[in-house]
Amino acid sequence: MASYDVIIIGGGPAGLTAGIYIARARLKGVILEKMMPGGQVMITTKVDNYPGFPEGIDGPELMMRFERQVKNLGMEIKAPYEVKKIEIQGEKRLVYSDTEILEARALIIATGAKYRKLGVPGEKEFTGRGVSYCGTCDALFFRDMDVAVVGGGDTALVEALHLTKFARRVFIIHRRDELRAAKVLQEEAFKNDKIEFIWSSVVKEIKGENSVQAVVLENRKNGQVSELKVEGCFIFVGMDPNSELVKDIVELDERGYIVTDVYCRTSVKGIFAAGDVRNNVLKQISTAVGDGAIAAVSAEKYIAGHESREDTQQTT
Ligand code: NAP
Repeated sequence: MASYDVIIIGGGPAGLTAGIYIARARLKGVILEKMMPGGQVMITTKVDNYPGFPEGIDGPELMMRFERQVKNLGMEIKAPYEVKKIEIQGEKRLVYSDTEILEARALIIATGAKYRKLGVPGEKEFTGRGVSYCGTCDALFFRDMDVAVVGGGDTALVEALHLTKFARRVFIIHRRDELRAAKVLQEEAFKNDKIEFIWSSVVKEIKGENSVQAVVLENRKNGQVSELKVEGCFIFVGMDPNSELVKDIVELDERGYIVTDVYCRTSVKGIFAAGDVRNNVLKQISTAVGDGAIAAVSAEKYIAGHESREDTQQTT
C-alpha cells in the first residue's frame, strides 16, 4: 500500500494550489484527479478576474500553468484517477480506487462542484443532442443556429457571450427580471446584439424529435405558456458540490457543502476541504486558490502535531 503524508483529492485550482504548498513543505503528497488537472476552469473560456493577467487569460492556459508549477515542485499527479471510497482507520486515512488502496496522514478534499440539472422533461433525453452544460465545449456545433441559455448567474452570462461567437441568436431565459451575474458581465451581455433576454420565465419542457427543436416556457408573472424554437439549450442553473465521497464521514451543510472552519478543517481531524466543495462564501478561482493554501498549511501543522497552536494566524 503506497503511503503519503497528504493526499489531495481533486486537481482544480484549490487542489493544485494545495499541491504547491504541500510540495514546498517537503511533504510526500499526491493529487488524485478524476478527469484532467484544471477542473471546471478547463471548460471556461476567458478568465478576466484572476489577478496578474491584465488582458485576461484562457481557462485551460491558466490551469496548465498551475499544473506546470505543481509538477516543477515535484508533486505527483495521478490523472485520470477515480477515488471510490475513503475510510478512516485510527490515524490513517485510506483512499480506495478500483485497483489500489492509498494511505495518508491527512486528506484535502478539493473535489469542486458540478453543474445542476434543470429536471424537466426532455433534458435527459436530449443531453448531447442539443442539451448541453458546456458552452465552451459545444458552441461550435451551433454555428448560425438559435440557442437558449437558461440561468442568470455568472456562468450563464459568460457562456452566452461565448456562444454569440457562433450562434445566430442567443436567448437568455431567466426566472426573475433581475440577473444574479456580476455587473460587468451584465453590461457586456446587454450591449451584445445577438443576445435577447426572456425575463421571469422558466423552461417547462425541452422538445424535439432526434434533437432539440424548441423549449416550452412559462411566464412566472402571468402564467402564459409559449414555445421558443431553438436548436440548442444550454443549462447553467448553479452548481452542486461533489461531496458524495465524504457524505457519511464529515459534516455537510443542508445543501451538501462540506462544513469547515476558517482553517479549512472539517469535522474530522486530518481531513481538510478547499474550494467549491466547501461552504465558502464565494466560488471563484481566486478564493479556491486561497482555500488550497490554507488547507495545505493546516494539513502541514496537523501532521507536525502543531494543531493546538493553530489558533494564531499564519502570516508567512
Ligand atoms: P449561480 O450563481 O448559483 O446562478 C444560478 C442561476 O441559475 C441563477 O440566476 C438562478 O436564478 C438560476 N436558477 C437556479 N435554479 C434554477 C431553476 N431551477 N430554474 C431556472 N433558473 C434557475 O450559479 P453559476 O452561475 O453556475 O455560478 C456558480 C458560482 O461560480 C458562482 O459563485 C459564480 O460567481 C461563480 N462563477 C464565477 C465566474 C466568474 O467570475 N467569471 C464564472 C462562472 C462562475 P436566481 O438568480 O433567481 O436564483
